[in-house]
Amino acid sequence: MKASEATEYYFVKAAQQLQISEDMRKLMLMPKREVTVEIVYENDAGGIETCLGYRVQHNNARGPMKGGLRYHSDVDIDEVRSLASLMTWKTAVVDLPYGGAKGGVSVDPKQLSTKERERLTRSFVDRIHDIIGPDVDIPAPDMGTSFQEMAWIRNQWEKYHGFNPAVITGKPVEEYGARGREEATGRGVGILCVKSAKRLGIRPENCRTAIQGFGNVGSHTAKYLHEATFPIVAISDISGCYYSPKGIDIPAALRHILANGSLEGLAGVGVIPADDLLSLEIDLLIPAALGGVIDEDNVNSIQAKLIVEAANGPILPAADEVLAARGVTILPDILANAGGVTVSYFEWVQNRQHYRWSLDRVRQELERTLSDAFEKVWQESIQRQIDLRTAAFCLGISRVQRATELAGIFG
Ligand code: NAD
Repeated sequence: MKASEATEYYFVKAAQQLQISEDMRKLMLMPKREVTVEIVYENDAGGIETCLGYRVQHNNARGPMKGGLRYHSDVDIDEVRSLASLMTWKTAVVDLPYGGAKGGVSVDPKQLSTKERERLTRSFVDRIHDIIGPDVDIPAPDMGTSFQEMAWIRNQWEKYHGFNPAVITGKPVEEYGARGREEATGRGVGILCVKSAKRLGIRPENCRTAIQGFGNVGSHTAKYLHEATFPIVAISDISGCYYSPKGIDIPAALRHILANGSLEGLAGVGVIPADDLLSLEIDLLIPAALGGVIDEDNVNSIQAKLIVEAANGPILPAADEVLAARGVTILPDILANAGGVTVSYFEWVQNRQHYRWSLDRVRQELERTLSDAFEKVWQESIQRQIDLRTAAFCLGISRVQRATELAGIFG
């Protein structure tokens, strides 16, 4: 099974638990709108470049649709469709007044100059500007895009529709972005790791932790957990896995990555192959890099008691079943990494009110929002005697179903 098919698998499992009819399942699974557009832009040599751009608007029963925009050579409509559906359940689990969407462009952004990325981004907005908007569909950064693309998108969209920074989130802080947006996903993962470990009776100082991926999410998670006294015994990035049984000096690793852009050459640690991180003898495993990294082939080597899914879809369904049967606690992606979309929501709220929150307020509201969702998912799991992933999907799906029925299905 591909990572892109996993969302539907988990949806069906939860829908069975909720005894949702076949008709209703079909209605909730089918995207509202899928758009594929040709993007044409000029390269630096004056030649013509073309590529495909996608926006899938999955569901708006609970509010305007929300989801990132990904630039990657592997992007296709299947992947975007699956990620759009994941966003519908994610925004519902954390009770944001949003639906779900996702977009992407099948291009390798590393092959483009800054000017080419700008021309491509503006051309994409020319094709989709009339289907996005602050009350309709609000994009955000994802793999391969950052605050810079968001600034271009806002500027291009406003040429058609006038001033309205709430059309997009993840903007530069000095250009109507929210304080604390950059750290939000990793900080949220950290908050939820602390809560989960406490529920399992693992004391922070005894919770040996390994984090796969040291980019935006992995590094901010590491910072939060280090401050919470968790010993982080292994971290990894594309260059390898860096290991120290006594705990890695995380502030030193953060300084190293800032100076070098990679963990390669980090002092005072052992180096092991990147994939070995997954099978270390640890208590807490945090996959924060790619989807589909834990599968049927490597699941039996996993020793962690707790896995917190910082990445989207790091555990494939076959492996998920094995881990559940072994009693491993898995905090699923739709809850664990929802800190990013939560602070995106705060950015949208601030933009609409023409008001700026302090960093302290953003952090407090983030903690409150994620804590509420965590409690509800945990209770759902106990009451129904189901794993946390199915519980999170049940909570999200039942909220979408309720909103759909209240509005009137045929209305
Ligand atoms: P990023 O590009 O900043 O970092 C990715 C990290 O993974 C890098 O350190 C990279 O070297 C590492 N990596 C890549 N391949 C690896 C491998 N084979 N082994 C070990 N490390 C490897 O990306 P990010 O924004 O931190 O996102 C990470 C994950 O979190 C993705 O799955 C993303 O979809 C998900 N996510 C991100 C956000 C967000 O706000 N950034 C929100 C929700 C979910």
